Amino acid sequence: MENAWEFILIGAAIGLFIGYYRRRVINKGYKNEPDRPFPSLWRQILAERVQFYQKLSGSDQKEFERKAHIFLLNVPIIGKGTEVTHEDKILIAAGAVIPIFRMSRWHYSNLEEIQLFPDQFNIPNTDKMANGLVGWGAMEGKMMLSKKAVHLGFADNEDNLNVVIHEFVHILDKQDGKMDGIIGKVMDEVDVTPWVHIIEKKKKQIMEGESSIRSYGTSNNAEFLAVVSEFYFESPERMKTEHPALFNALDSFYNEKPKRNVFSSRDRRNVGSYKKEY
Ligand SMILES: [Zn+2]
Repeated sequence: MENAWEFILIGAAIGLFIGYYRRRVINKGYKNEPDRPFPSLWRQILAERVQFYQKLSGSDQKEFERKAHIFLLNVPIIGKGTEVTHEDKILIAAGAVIPIFRMSRWHYSNLEEIQLFPDQFNIPNTDKMANGLVGWGAMEGKMMLSKKAVHLGFADNEDNLNVVIHEFVHILDKQDGKMDGIIGKVMDEVDVTPWVHIIEKKKKQIMEGESSIRSYGTSNNAEFLAVVSEFYFESPERMKTEHPALFNALDSFYNEKPKRNVFSSRDRRNVGSYKKEY
């Protein structure tokens, strides 16, 4: 019996350590932790408006809520000529959590503040308007979003348009100092040649009018990554059917497996055959 107790105690200690590790080590950088349960109003908004959350298992929904809660406790959302409602907050937090949900480390270290405008806003120092923007220069560390576009992004969960996911993918992309369509933290140690090859092929198809990916993706590699990520998170099954090689690559990035090449050896041998697949 004594041995059985030891076994139970060791098991409990390991469980406690894993809990501590998940909360303190993986999330280091975010100092504020929830000290109360996830509000039921927030859960209701997720359940009604966010398809990604609706499709998760019960335990994954809890994890999604925990991450959204931590995000909201640490990243201020400032209204610019508009009130920030619970719906605004939760939809923005959902868009922040979706891209990093399957990543082991998910601290958006390069984001300090989100500014929410009622509708399209002026891009600083230009005469252009935007629905979403990742700041640079004096606006470094800030994200700007249109409230109207945030809500539209979650209104139709299968149109592959979601400005919040789009901008958070830019933030992830920019974490290595370069917004270049390559997520440094998961791709630094891998050969990115097959990924760049996919980008070029897909952009060519879009320009020839033979693609279900929207044409904004041809602007540059950073926009390509953001646009196809919206597609991947909103319509994974459709992407799997229509763009299998692209789906596999994105799936490898967003279901992070550290210290492993994101392309299987088979894919790497068959780089030349991607053409046939998509
Ligand atoms: Zn963009």
